[in-house]
Amino acid sequence: MSTTFSVTLPSGATWTPTFVAQLDEEKCIGCGRCFKVCPRGVLELVGLNEDGEYVRVDEDDDDDEEYEKKVMTIAHQALCIGCTACAKICPKKCYTHAAAEV
Ligand code: SF4
Ligand code: SF4
Repeated sequence: MSTTFSVTLPSGATWTPTFVAQLDEEKCIGCGRCFKVCPRGVLELVGLNEDGEYVRVDEDDDDDEEYEKKVMTIAHQALCIGCTACAKICPKKCYTHAAAEV
């Protein structure tokens, strides 16, 4: 049987952190704000080509013809500490966070 992961704070209160679960690519404008605030290297900016496939983005390369738009992706979900900074700064409300089952 699984239970929701929570911690007891020094005050004695219980806190249930929520971790990054989903990122809505349709809404994402690839602004990179979430990437800048994430302290754990969870996120990665990629290109999305006309076939809906991810392609690598080279920030130093101006040749962006290989992709239609840039989107953020959850590249290393297991590294998330549930700070929710990404969701707070996102101007398009792309993020869904969820408690972890243990
Ligand atoms: S919740 Fe925090 S650690 Fe997790 S992806 Fe967002 S900014 Fe990174
Ligand atoms: S802050 Fe929001 S809109 Fe900007 S790249 Fe991140 S997920 Fe996309």
